Amino acid sequence: MKPKHIEHIGIAVRSLEESIPFYEKVFGLSCYNIEEVAEQQVKTAFFKVGDTKIELLESTGPDGPISKFIEKRGEGVHHIAFAVDNIEECLEQADKSGVRLIDSSPRGGAEGLSIAFLHPKSTFGVLTELCEDKSKKK
Ligand code: ZN
Repeated sequence: MKPKHIEHIGIAVRSLEESIPFYEKVFGLSCYNIEEVAEQQVKTAFFKVGDTKIELLESTGPDGPISKFIEKRGEGVHHIAFAVDNIEECLEQADKSGVRLIDSSPRGGAEGLSIAFLHPKSTFGVLTELCEDKSKKK
């Protein structure tokens, strides 16, 4: 596995309504996409910073993973996402190296990406996401 770049950094927030204007005013970034991923009980807001994006995550339900995260650890960095080629191969490789997988096969994430998470217990406490943009593939 060789990540191409950091696709995005996911940040758990209590309120997009409060955090989006903060990123726009303080950092001068503009939110170009807001998307709900119902399956994950999350609403996401995206900003581009060069090749990397900031993904703000607000929970849409009290039992969603972001809600639980904030309850336990407060707002803050939630995960780091690497852009990879051939996500299936990367997952297989990680599995063979003894990394605990949250997703053993890729699923659909925000922005039309195929995504899969590696368990933070296996990655020094950092929830790690792999992303592949399959629309860019021939
Ligand atoms: Zn993400």
